[in-house]
Amino acid sequence: MEGIKLEDLLTKIQEYNLDNLEEIKKAYHYAEKLHDGQFRQSGEPYIIHPLNVAYILADMHADMDTICAGLLHDTIEDTGVTKEDIAHEFNPTVANLVDGVTKLAKMNFSSKEDQALANTRKIITGITEDVRIIIIKLADRLHNMRTLQYKSSFKQKENSLETMEIFAPLAYYIGAYRIKSELEDLSFQYLKPDLYRKIAGQKKKVEEDYLPTLKEIQTQLKTFLGYENIASDIKVRTKNIYGIYKRLNQGQRLSDIHDLFALKVMVDELVDCYKALGLIHQLYHPVNGKFKDYICNPKTNMYQSLHTTVFAPCDHLVQVQIRTFDMDKIASFGLTAYWDSKPDCARDIMQKELKDKYQFYNSLMEMNAMFGNNQEFVSQVKRELFSETVYVYTTKGDIIELPKGSTPIDFAYRIHTDIGNTMAGAFVNDELVPLNYVLKNKDRVRIITDELSFGPRDEWLEYAKTASARKRIREFCHR
Ligand code: MN
Repeated sequence: MEGIKLEDLLTKIQEYNLDNLEEIKKAYHYAEKLHDGQFRQSGEPYIIHPLNVAYILADMHADMDTICAGLLHDTIEDTGVTKEDIAHEFNPTVANLVDGVTKLAKMNFSSKEDQALANTRKIITGITEDVRIIIIKLADRLHNMRTLQYKSSFKQKENSLETMEIFAPLAYYIGAYRIKSELEDLSFQYLKPDLYRKIAGQKKKVEEDYLPTLKEIQTQLKTFLGYENIASDIKVRTKNIYGIYKRLNQGQRLSDIHDLFALKVMVDELVDCYKALGLIHQLYHPVNGKFKDYICNPKTNMYQSLHTTVFAPCDHLVQVQIRTFDMDKIASFGLTAYWDSKPDCARDIMQKELKDKYQFYNSLMEMNAMFGNNQEFVSQVKRELFSETVYVYTTKGDIIELPKGSTPIDFAYRIHTDIGNTMAGAFVNDELVPLNYVLKNKDRVRIITDELSFGPRDEWLEYAKTASARKRIREFCHR
């Protein structure tokens, strides 16, 4: 939202929080004074940028410290002010957040210098201490991407690439799908403008074709759910342009993408999700093998929903996603949903959930403990967390996230060191595979162990992709 003013921010905040407005005004005027005389490439006064960042945060119902930090986020970097000044003027939490965001801006994955690498490591491990630093940085990047048209074409490409490599994955890891989708599409638009336009045009055509069908199902579902006394809200959700591009890249045709448009059915209670599912399957014939229960098996970023694809009128296949309103909040906003649902203790819950449930946090901590060398740590984080991933299943149905190119050896060590060390073979989808088999999405993996096996051999190092597997193989082979 361009052209917003302090009043708009205050109005937005008042939608969910009635006190502390004085502190927000103070932060705004403090930042405005410090940035006085600085301008954005668009020609506007610089304060427009932090104001928009704060607005994006207020839209997520962020707490007051976070919004203050959003307003102040560029002051350490661009003006003479220090962390101590901000702590003194506001409070130590705000100062810590601003300082964290400033450091995150200096993160450099490609530098070879030791000092820069050590710095990058500190930043990566530091962001996990307060996840709000990541969220402010994402809001900052989002506004910068939305206003990228004022930058040189070199800067546009450079920022887009960095957004695609680092910030869209970060948004994904904390489950902030809305931000992730927008960041991806904005970057894609600058990286491949022709392709972006072409896909957007095709999507629009299919949309016109599908919309009447979607509306029809929507009305019918709403009515039938009403008969069962299940209150619901049903929305059309469309795949983002970059998401479509990835599918086309895997060789699918646009018409094969069955979740291009989906109907999102939201209900109050968990039991109603399954009732709604039964109802939908009675009304429309389900496509066999397309049903997924992400409620019982949440994704690694805690996304929960039921997915089914049904034969809809006019020969259309339509995906229906069913979830509770609470699950939908997590699906759209990830960890940041707690600002809205648990405003009094959101920060603590966010940190606890991050540690307990989000796989990326644990991978990061594991790598941090494993690598003494900064270069090894940084390049492994880049390879494992910021390159493409595959999702495979255990025999129990748990979902395991691994970097692209991983093999059954990586899988075995991810489950447990002993499983890796006694591994004798692997079945993927009930077929015996060689140990250098490259895992694909949705593979169901079963590891055969044998107490009397020879254990890992040196050649396994060539097959293993993850740091943890490689380290354990080395330990075993050289003891
Ligand atoms: Mn900024």
